[in-house]
Amino acid sequence: MRHFAVVGSGPGGFYTAEALGKAYGEGARVDIIDRYPVPYGLVRFGVAPDHQSLKAVSKRYDQTADSDGVDFIGNVTVGRDVSISELLEHYDAVVLAIGAPHDRKLGIPGEDLPGVIGSAAFVGWYNGHPEFAGLDPPLGGTHAAVIGNGNVALDCARILSKSRGELEGGDIVNHALDALETSPIETVTILGRRGPLQISMTPKELGELGHLEAATPVVDPADFPPADADEALEPGQRKSVTLLREYAAAGPDKSKRNKMVFDFYAKPLRIEGDGKAERIVIERTKLDASDSAIGTGEIYEVPASLIISSIGYSTPPLEGVPYDERGGKFLNENGKIDERLYCVGWARRGPTGTIGTNRPDGYEVAAQIETEMPPGSSSDRPGAEGLKALLATRNVMPTDYDDWRKIEQTESANARPGSPREKFVRVEDWLKALDR
Ligand code: NAP
Repeated sequence: MRHFAVVGSGPGGFYTAEALGKAYGEGARVDIIDRYPVPYGLVRFGVAPDHQSLKAVSKRYDQTADSDGVDFIGNVTVGRDVSISELLEHYDAVVLAIGAPHDRKLGIPGEDLPGVIGSAAFVGWYNGHPEFAGLDPPLGGTHAAVIGNGNVALDCARILSKSRGELEGGDIVNHALDALETSPIETVTILGRRGPLQISMTPKELGELGHLEAATPVVDPADFPPADADEALEPGQRKSVTLLREYAAAGPDKSKRNKMVFDFYAKPLRIEGDGKAERIVIERTKLDASDSAIGTGEIYEVPASLIISSIGYSTPPLEGVPYDERGGKFLNENGKIDERLYCVGWARRGPTGTIGTNRPDGYEVAAQIETEMPPGSSSDRPGAEGLKALLATRNVMPTDYDDWRKIEQTESANARPGSPREKFVRVEDWLKALDR
């Protein structure tokens, strides 16, 4: 028998567990360990609440959790309740699938002013992440800005711009739904340091902007190079740029109250305000021969009392695990960190790709483990039994998938009409739902 620990129950963790389960069958037990009693990681806390079809992937993860040989051990924080070296004593292999939950810093003056928020925190706030439930973002002004031209920036801008009616069918938490409904924000400026051909937004997500009830995209036709420049783009990117060109050609829909303004060639220099964020000072850029942004010396200001910085994420370091400071992820070679220690997903590659990208990633690392510890081989490491005994000495009470099912039932029962669930946003409430 082999015992494997997968740390993190987001997409990377579940696909790895699925692959290990298939490869070893009854010859191994796979424990998916998570710091929270609820599974799914990014799918629960990161995917936008108005993108329910993407969240449906959790049904597949449930099948993995329900399969023989795979268990969920929730409410256990690796690095606090148990160390990596202790996990390696108990398991034959440990796979870190902890994602990249930390915001990258902008590194400009004023970014610590109240009113400047990282996208991980803002997304966590509207998605019911317990760490950010009390964020209370300043939604009282008419102007907000989002820094970055990726899909997360677009998620944040869209959630700020949608009407209550557009949001309430998803699983946005009530505290965010109520706060957004009464917010007077009318203009969300989306700042990209490069041009429309360099965006990291995908066509499906950009296409939604043409069908919003309360908001209209505002794109300046003067920002585009001649149309033949699009020919060199990869097809998906060309589609995204075509959508932006269409929005620019159509002009803003004046019947809509809210504007999502794309401000390209805009590099934030500093954030200013009297004790809180009030404006971003920007330098206009142009592209050099390698499509990098270089400053032109032209300076202007964008007013905003809420500024969301959405410029990418990093994985938190874990004691005893080699770390790549520049990449913001674990140092690894094809997912291998050290003897019997591996990583997958964003902790392996950095924060890129879709949920589906994590599947081949998890399967690849599982295949590597299979080569090093062929099915049929065994060890006398104790796995979950030993881990649980150790946790008991530390008064840590793990939860299992049946516990999650109970929480899930309560969340579904509490849901507002049309919404799949009303999420608990505090760990105490999850445990209370379990009578603990
Ligand atoms: P991302 O796609 O890497 O975008 C980061 C953006 O930040 C880029 O536009 C980048 O511009 C900009 N940026 C970086 N440093 C900057 C700085 N110092 N100043 C100004 N701008 C800066 O990251 P993400 O949006 O966080 O998304 C992470 C991953 O999740 C992506 O693969 C994304 O597609 C995926 N995702 C998918 C969905 C979906 O499918 N619906 C939703 C959300 C996220 P440069 O290009 O100039 O570096």
